[in-house]
Amino acid sequence: MCGIVGYCGDKLASEVLLSGLKRLEYRGYDSSGISVNSGNKLSIIKKTGKIKNLRDAVPENLPGHFGIGHTRWATHGGVTDINAHPHSDSSEKIAVVHNGIIENYTGLKEKLLREGYVFKSETDSEVLAHLISKFYEGDLESAVKSALSLVKGTYGIIVMHADKDNELIGARNGSPLVLGIGDDEMFLASDVSAILAYTKQVVYFEDGEVVKVTSKGFTTSDLKNNRVSKDMENISWELEEMEKGKFSTYMEKEIHEQVESIPRAMKGRINEDLATAVLGGLNMTGRELLDVERVKIIAAGTSYYAGQVASYIIESLARIPSSAELASEFRYRNPVVEKNTLYFAISQSGETIDTLFALREIKRKGGRVLGICNVVGSTIPRESDGGVYIHSGPEISVASTKAFTSQITALYLFAIHMARMRDMSQSSGAAFLKDLNIIPEAITDILNRKAELQKIAEKYAHYPNFLFLGRGINCPVAMEGALKLKEVSYIHAEGYSAAEIKHGPIALINEKTPSMFLVPDDHMREKIVSNMKEVKARNGKVLAIAVKGDKEVEDIADEVFYVSKTHENLYPYLMVVPLQLFSYFCAMELHRDVDQPRNLAKSVTVE
Ligand code: GLU
Repeated sequence: MCGIVGYCGDKLASEVLLSGLKRLEYRGYDSSGISVNSGNKLSIIKKTGKIKNLRDAVPENLPGHFGIGHTRWATHGGVTDINAHPHSDSSEKIAVVHNGIIENYTGLKEKLLREGYVFKSETDSEVLAHLISKFYEGDLESAVKSALSLVKGTYGIIVMHADKDNELIGARNGSPLVLGIGDDEMFLASDVSAILAYTKQVVYFEDGEVVKVTSKGFTTSDLKNNRVSKDMENISWELEEMEKGKFSTYMEKEIHEQVESIPRAMKGRINEDLATAVLGGLNMTGRELLDVERVKIIAAGTSYYAGQVASYIIESLARIPSSAELASEFRYRNPVVEKNTLYFAISQSGETIDTLFALREIKRKGGRVLGICNVVGSTIPRESDGGVYIHSGPEISVASTKAFTSQITALYLFAIHMARMRDMSQSSGAAFLKDLNIIPEAITDILNRKAELQKIAEKYAHYPNFLFLGRGINCPVAMEGALKLKEVSYIHAEGYSAAEIKHGPIALINEKTPSMFLVPDDHMREKIVSNMKEVKARNGKVLAIAVKGDKEVEDIADEVFYVSKTHENLYPYLMVVPLQLFSYFCAMELHRDVDQPRNLAKSVTVE
């Protein structure tokens, strides 16, 4: 969600900032802006809409070698040029970019107004510029600290002062901040993608830390002025991984990448001799794992549905009671954290604030939390007791696809590990792993026949409502399918257990509301086929994803897409990929911006 970037060095700051903001575009935003020093005054340029609007407004070769930039996802105040960041104080010497929400801004603003400060915008963020100005007596870092000591809420900020040549102050609380180290140049950003084109050496900051950056070095301290020493890390992603390559959109590219990203999530984690998975990052002894009596998975959005799939598999294979819960709800209901419950926090970005805050709540109550994340070095893995990186490579499309299949892969491996420690035999373990290994082949087969899904999508994209229906382990997959369609095509869709429709949603069925059924050849198949007939009897259009050879489905459904046969617990992979493609093609048919759907953000860093 939104992003910040800062630069000091020899390059033209405006160029570095604009290219950084362009790389942050995928996170979702509604306006953007930059501030660079021009002599000892600031040039601040801000525009609503795409980065292109900002680029068009920035004079070519705008002088200035240090500066800050922002992509905004409005929380307080409408989407206007004035509300866009950076915000400045009345002297226009200090500029601030802010990600997050200043929760006590109303009180702070009233006080500042009484003291004569004049506000230009409706944002919560502008109070930061005036507060810093109020405390500024020549030392920017200490003015920032004094201002932050009055602030409640979440922030990732970068601050500059026109008179402080080549100096930036960064600070974070709840929103990410990373420093990139170059040769006589430094970068600050909310996300490594903004700086990967310039450097791979980074330092991640923790909440409560403040960094003073010059082109030559940096110092880190906390709000009470204690020095903090930091370790440098290397980013493993390559710049090419962030390009679209031969695909026209990131979503299409990432759907196709699943053939490689699923094996990558398994790489080095299978012990074939013992027919089990090896997950060193869990940081738990065999004894501790045997003591686990319950598994709870905390997540949001697509990760939540991955968690629900995983809870079925953990319960089914390892016989450990498991459930998934929405992080945003979990956190606020004063949860009971049980001694022998193992918690997982799933987040692609590792920065999802609802999930991060739920993780902190569990840890505060003495629980053990493992992270399932994609972005190495992000906040959730750093604050977890251990976990599994899914190694999907950068996921740029706002609608998550490859992260979903890799998240379930990581948790399938956990399930098999736990199952083999308990009562799963070596031969059942080996059979399961064998089927898991050939999933990428079955996905390749789906991708090779994607034109069939395109044809179905073109026929149905103009229907206003959809139901997605599945049972058992494929019930959360149906919900994920509905979410995907909503996200990228803006078609209203509901995901349900096929069994539940007769308890309400069947009232929606008519010739204008198609139902997409997931029909694996598992123990639920007969029941789902009956549900399909119920819909058909009420003039509903029936679309189905079924298993090759299932002729009965063809007789009932208006449209069928066939997938290969697999182990009954592995169908989520083969059901979700056609649903991703169906959503993608519907969105294309409706000319939607699939990579940056309206109102959405990639990494949800506000509550
Ligand atoms: N709350 C701030 C605003 O509405 C910052 C939002 C953001 O993180 O982009 O301007």
